[in-house]
Amino acid sequence: MIKAFNLGDVILKDDFFTEVTQKDVDFLNNFDLDRLLYNFRLTAGLPNKASGPYSGWENTRIGGHTLGHYLTAAAQACAGGYGDCSGTDGVTLKARLKLIIEGLAECQNATGTGFVFGATMADPSKPELQFDKMEAADYNDTWVPWYTMHKIVNGLVETAKLADSDTAQRSLEVAEKLGEWIYNRTSRWTAEQRDHVLAVEYGAMNDCLYELYKVAKAAGYENAVHFKNAAHAFDEEKLFEDVLAASREGGKPDVLNNKHANCTIPKFVGAINRCVTLLEESGAAAEQQKYLEYCKAFWKIVTERHTYITGGNSECEHFGRDNILDAERSNCNCETCNTHNMLKLTRTLFMLTGEKKYADYYENTFVNAILASVNHETGMTTYFQPMATGCFKTYCNIDVNKNYFWCCTGTGLENFTKLGDSLYFYDEDTLYVNQFVSSEVRWHSKNVVICQSSDLPESGKIELTVKAGESDFTIAIRIPDWVAGIPCFMINGVSASATKDIDYFYIKRSWKNGDKITVDFPMEIRAYNLPDNSRCFAFKYGPVVLAAELGRDSKMSLRQVGVQCDVCANKIVRGLEMPLNGNYGGTSGLKPLATETLLVEEPVDEFMKNINKHFEKQEGLRFILRNADWYGTLCFTPYYRINNQRYGIYWLFTDSQEEIRMLETMAQSSADSTANYIEGIGVGYGAQTEGNETTWPYMQETGTGSVADPHELTRYAKAGGSFSYMFKVLPDEDKKIYLDCTFLKTDEGKQIIIKSGDTLIADYTLSCDGDDEKFVKSFELPQSLTKGQKELRIEFSGKDGNESARLVAPVSTSWK
Ligand SMILES: [Zn+2]
Repeated sequence: MIKAFNLGDVILKDDFFTEVTQKDVDFLNNFDLDRLLYNFRLTAGLPNKASGPYSGWENTRIGGHTLGHYLTAAAQACAGGYGDCSGTDGVTLKARLKLIIEGLAECQNATGTGFVFGATMADPSKPELQFDKMEAADYNDTWVPWYTMHKIVNGLVETAKLADSDTAQRSLEVAEKLGEWIYNRTSRWTAEQRDHVLAVEYGAMNDCLYELYKVAKAAGYENAVHFKNAAHAFDEEKLFEDVLAASREGGKPDVLNNKHANCTIPKFVGAINRCVTLLEESGAAAEQQKYLEYCKAFWKIVTERHTYITGGNSECEHFGRDNILDAERSNCNCETCNTHNMLKLTRTLFMLTGEKKYADYYENTFVNAILASVNHETGMTTYFQPMATGCFKTYCNIDVNKNYFWCCTGTGLENFTKLGDSLYFYDEDTLYVNQFVSSEVRWHSKNVVICQSSDLPESGKIELTVKAGESDFTIAIRIPDWVAGIPCFMINGVSASATKDIDYFYIKRSWKNGDKITVDFPMEIRAYNLPDNSRCFAFKYGPVVLAAELGRDSKMSLRQVGVQCDVCANKIVRGLEMPLNGNYGGTSGLKPLATETLLVEEPVDEFMKNINKHFEKQEGLRFILRNADWYGTLCFTPYYRINNQRYGIYWLFTDSQEEIRMLETMAQSSADSTANYIEGIGVGYGAQTEGNETTWPYMQETGTGSVADPHELTRYAKAGGSFSYMFKVLPDEDKKIYLDCTFLKTDEGKQIIIKSGDTLIADYTLSCDGDDEKFVKSFELPQSLTKGQKELRIEFSGKDGNESARLVAPVSTSWK
């Protein structure tokens, strides 16, 4: 198996990389550890030093996840040489890491069971309640405890691997005790209880437990095998088999459709670790191979059927149908956690197989989804990365007291303290140069340092210099998939030829201090199409995705979807605007604005074949698109560097004058189909909106469920139950106001009663003529209800005390 270098053995020299890493470290040094530990101490029954936990997600049933991410990010930063950096309080990052581990050890001693946890508790007398409820399939008000547990265990294990020896040892002890608590639970699960638990997002519990197993075993812990067994309890072989079958020719389509992407990807991060674990023990060869096949199949399906040009995937956190990507471009694409986890999977697949395609995907996604996720002025990171044209990225808050602590804020903390982790790899006698970033790598066993200076993305010129030592080995330089033509290699000034069909350029020799390899990778612009729209294109120059800069305007406001997730509230392209009102699960299916289409004089395919002719390259990686008629000049620049302005990665092209005339008429009348939309409401994913009566839409409920299938965003009233939200309406008497409800075809024949106060709005039995999975039914609101009102509470229940039909997000109001 190919091996990775330690983080401390790779020193970054590129300014962009060192600056964003430093900003991440500064942010980590800004945290008040007593607030991070607040709920852990409360759970353990210990007195607290802080007045409360951090806000946002940290003050909910998912609280504590940030502490786990913090541990991983800080341990990586310490391993990378940032441990002595300190915050304004003078406390170093190294010391912070130690303080958290000690804090957790104290909590663990107090509980006496190995359990440590940091969510806000529903009942302080039952600190493990969330886990108990999962096993009983009672998903009400639980959110995702095993997801949070994964972050904590992972943080402890990474600290055990990366921190200085005292802190590492202490962290391993805490991890082992917590691991035993987990093992005690998993080993007594019935098959049914296990199904209940695995039905809800659990991060990569299998991955962190396999890792704990390896670290604990190496340290001589006698019951290490407990962790391996517990890890396997989280391996979902049924899912793995389904994915493998679907990847085969003629396999079932849409195997990932409607699956929550960041629930699913980490399951395979764990699966690949099972493969590695078995391999390292030279055991169970057939099982090993099977797990490798599972992961290759999943990777293939995600990258070939669900991935945008940036390497990102998903719409509103979910995978859609195979090859449906243009239709799902919205303000809520490409959750950054997904790419974080895809890269973990990809990295290990590369190490196991040595196949270049994994390194190619890694580069593309690393540059265009991970580097693109950070605002390099502030170091803050994104949740979603919109693929809809005319949107902008939004970032978490640099003020720790105002931050919402999203999942992606956590993985974002991790991403930027390990930027050097996949640049180089090695095996017995080969150094793999996989990524082209100015840096230095120290290969201890060969006693050499190799220095890389890279001009990417400005040009494809790379220089590698052997800085010290004298040794026999092979340098293997990846030939990236974006290379245009034959790359040029020189060794100490003498040219060596390579064809572009090879994956790596291998140079085997006895290296001496001062030996130099220069590489020139020819670069060009390439056009990339989306499979569900032959006219929709995006562009790359070498490794970087280009996006047209669309500038700033006074309407760059945010709104929230899902759980306190900030997204851009509208898309604007050349003055034409579309409000983005859809709530969680209801943001896809945006129609393009008339101003997103460009007129070309030749057939679109021909235009794209000669795309380099149509881009005029200017200083500073600016590319002006010519011969494509639009309302002005479109200037494309590297997407990853675009912050704080609107952009367009994807554009539509046509050679039909007639179509353009039609679009222009539409543009002039500004007739937006969404103009009559008032506001949409997410009906509640899982449980987090429950108990959240103080924030819009002020949901109230008794006896409801939202989890028939936890991946489907529905809510229904159980027999005798009901639920209600506050809807926005218009007070004007001259407008008719409608409530637009989305239902599932499979609920046909079921009933729902819709009321406001005592006024009946609808007594409806579901019926639908079409074949679509979902359908919309509009109910006119009586004027007596809306007259003079801006808001209205509307309640849903079943008929005659029965269970109601399920409502699907979003439920919205509109007017005519
Ligand atoms: Zn996320």
